[in-house]
Amino acid sequence: MHKFTHILPKKILYWYDNNKRLLPWRVSIYSKNVQYYRILSEFMLQQTQVKTVIPYFKNFIKEIPSLKILSQTNENKILKLWEGLGYYRRARHLHLTSKMLIKNYNGVLPKDYNLIMKFPGIGNYTANALLALVYNKPTIALDVNVKRVFSRILNKDEKKINFDELINNNKKKLFKSKNRNKDFAEALIEFGALVCRPKEPRCVNCNIKKNCKYFKSKNKFKKKLNLKTIEKSYDIFCYLNQKNKKIALTKTNNLGFLNKSNLPMIKAQSKKANNKNWNFLCNYKSFISNKKLNINLYYKFSNKLPLQFNWYKFEKNNEFIPTFTKNIFKRLSKLF
Ligand code: SF4
Repeated sequence: MHKFTHILPKKILYWYDNNKRLLPWRVSIYSKNVQYYRILSEFMLQQTQVKTVIPYFKNFIKEIPSLKILSQTNENKILKLWEGLGYYRRARHLHLTSKMLIKNYNGVLPKDYNLIMKFPGIGNYTANALLALVYNKPTIALDVNVKRVFSRILNKDEKKINFDELINNNKKKLFKSKNRNKDFAEALIEFGALVCRPKEPRCVNCNIKKNCKYFKSKNKFKKKLNLKTIEKSYDIFCYLNQKNKKIALTKTNNLGFLNKSNLPMIKAQSKKANNKNWNFLCNYKSFISNKKLNINLYYKFSNKLPLQFNWYKFEKNNEFIPTFTKNIFKRLSKLF
C-alpha cells in the first residue's frame, strides 16, 4: 500500500477544479456528443500536443458532426481535414473504428476493455482513457505525464514501477470519489502536463509536495526558494441585472491569467479602487495556478450594460465557464 494514494484523488481533483483548461472535447458525460468527441480527440491527441489539436478538432466536428456521419464520409475528405496534423494512419484507424462501431455496436462504444482494444489504433492507453472519459469507469490512462507524476511522487525510476500492480493494489483509495473517475483520470494527465512537467516541475506551488518523495529529496529547494504560496488580494466587482438574472461579463481582465475566459469585472486591489458605491458580499480564498487569491467580492444591481461587457444569463453548470467564475456565480446566486 502506498501512503500517497489516499490523498491523491482529493488533492488532484482540487487542483483540477481550479485550473483545468477549457478544451472543446471536454463535454459532460451526459452530453450526446461525449462519445464521438472523446474518440476523435483521443485519436488526434496521440503523439500530438493539445494546442495543435484544438483547431483541427473544432474544424473536424464542424465538417463531420457525428460518429455516424464519420462512418459514411469518404476517406479522402477525412485525410484532407487531417492535413497538417501528421501520422495519417490515425485518421484511417479512426475512420475504420467509426465504421465498426456503427456496424457492429449500433454506434455505441462497448464498455468492455477487451472489446475496445480490438478497434484499430486503440491501445492500452486509449482504451483506458475512453473507459474513464466516456463511462466514468475507475481506470487510469497511463500516458507519459501520468507515469511521470507517479514516478516523481515515489521518487523511483519509471522502469522500476509496476504501474498495473500499483493501481490494482490501491483501487479503493484511488477511486474513492466514485462519481469523479472521469475527472480523476483527466486531472492526472493535466496535472502532469501543467504542474509536474518534464522539465522544471512547479514543485514550489504544487499542492501534493508534502507527499512527494522527489520534492523531499531535493532539499536544495527548501533553502533556495520561498515555499510559501504567493498570496494576492483582488477585488471583484460584478454588475447584476436582478430582473433577468444576468451578470455582466467581459473578455478582458487585469489579473494576467485566464485572459481568454469570460470573467466578471475584476480589479486588482489598489488605493484607486473606489469600493464605496459597491455592496460587499463576502471574502474568500481561492487558488488559481500558482497563486493563492484573497478575494473580496462586490456587487451592484444595474439595468444598464457597462462598456465592453455583455449580459450573461446565470448558468452555474455551463461547461465553458471556468471553475473560478462558477465559484463566484455560486456566491452571487444567493442574491437573486
Ligand atoms: S512536488 Fe514537484 S515533483 Fe512532486 S508531484 Fe508536485 S510538481 Fe511533481
